[in-house]
Amino acid sequence: MYKKNFDAIVIGGGYTGCSTAYFLTKAGMDVALIEMNSICSGASGRNGGQVIQLEGREELTKEKIIKRNSITGLNKRLLESLNNELECDIEFIKNGSLDVAFTEEEADIIKKVMEIQYETGDKGVEFIGPDRIKDICPAYGDNFVGAKLRHDDGSVNPFKMTHGLAFAAQRKGMKIYTRTKVLSLIFKSSKVIGVKTDNGEFFADKAVINATNAWSKLLIEEYPIIPCKILGFVTEQLPIIPIQSVEAYPGEFAIYGSSQKHGNILIGGAPYSYPKNMEDHLSQDVSFMDFKRYGDVFKFTWPNVKEVSFIRAWAGAVGFTPDSYPLVGPTKYDNFYINGGFTNGNSWCPICGKLLAEYILKGGKTTVPIDFLNPERFSIHTFEWPKEYNYTVLHNYITQMMG
Ligand SMILES: Cc1cc2nc3c(=O)[nH]c(=O)nc-3n(C[C@H](O)[C@H](O)[C@H](O)COP(=O)(O)OP(=O)(O)OC[C@H]3O[C@@H](n4cnc5c(N)ncnc54)[C@H](O)[C@@H]3O)c2cc1C
Repeated sequence: MYKKNFDAIVIGGGYTGCSTAYFLTKAGMDVALIEMNSICSGASGRNGGQVIQLEGREELTKEKIIKRNSITGLNKRLLESLNNELECDIEFIKNGSLDVAFTEEEADIIKKVMEIQYETGDKGVEFIGPDRIKDICPAYGDNFVGAKLRHDDGSVNPFKMTHGLAFAAQRKGMKIYTRTKVLSLIFKSSKVIGVKTDNGEFFADKAVINATNAWSKLLIEEYPIIPCKILGFVTEQLPIIPIQSVEAYPGEFAIYGSSQKHGNILIGGAPYSYPKNMEDHLSQDVSFMDFKRYGDVFKFTWPNVKEVSFIRAWAGAVGFTPDSYPLVGPTKYDNFYINGGFTNGNSWCPICGKLLAEYILKGGKTTVPIDFLNPERFSIHTFEWPKEYNYTVLHNYITQMMG
């Protein structure tokens, strides 16, 4: 028989849900974590592991850089402390990240962003030329003109981080319910008092938190987080080639890449054909054309790696929001919070779990301001999302909307 009543219920066992649940439990709350599949089965278990503090190019203004860094800088400090905190090696390695330019135009855009970064005091980046890139990463060839290098970016092991958070919380008394799907929220007038699941009802009198990211809208339609499918491909093991976490635009769409501890290289991005609706974005198919596309992209991006095979491919979904910031905080419904809308979660989710826990525990007080992440900031807008979209289409749409 399930226990039914808790202080808090967290829906979603990715690292956002696990982090939120961990910090609430650590502070003494009686917490239930409810996950429809298994811990880390969503995007958290499908990602490339990159930790990139400040992604993006054209859309970055001074204000946005300051806001993003206020969260992602703090996140990095949290990642540094998690091995001790969780008694688990999350494999956070600071081997740098590269934003690679294949053309002079791209290089100019990157350099402009860097100027603004310097103005904000963000000086951990430098622009490096082709020779230096090949020195630090021999996989690159001669088809690029330079790159932004951030020294203290790197990668993390998302499985270890998510399970580390979940198990540490469990040791402190948190209850985990896997294979338990939340079907709907239970309301008592304008208060959310619990959830109805395919394993019965659960109740919480201090907080119910939606941390389902790409699935958020299926639980509560009115908050604008939409799913977007991303692919991942991994190669066989190679003699260690230290490909830093990389973002690049080798064509009309963005890709990410990184190398793993044992020499496998990971690459990914948008699918070949545009998913047509929300179900398509949440599906896990990978097509032959996807393999072909990423084979070509791989050869173009790292021409000095000869003769390599992909050994596995997968798909997952992230959550996009209209202004590219996640929704973290209270909603207009009493007792109901959202922690979702993450695209590059390794730099956001762990700290947003901690910040939301602080918000709930300390009556709205947090280590750094999170008002700009308030879920109600969209309440007076309606959004016409593009009908068929991929990551790049959404990214461009958002950049345009933000002006
Ligand atoms: C292929 C790919 C590569 C990526 N690479 C990177 C990268 O290199 N760096 C980076 O920073 N980010 C990357 N990301 C993004 C990152 O993985 C996500 O931003 C992050 O994992 C979001 O974490 P989350 O916990 O919010 O969501 P998720 O990990 O998706 O967790 C949500 C959970 O909610 C559960 N759930 C949904 N609905 C219900 C329900 N009704 N009841 C119960 N449970 C439910 C799901 O099963 C899921 O486990 C990548 C994503 C993908 C897909």
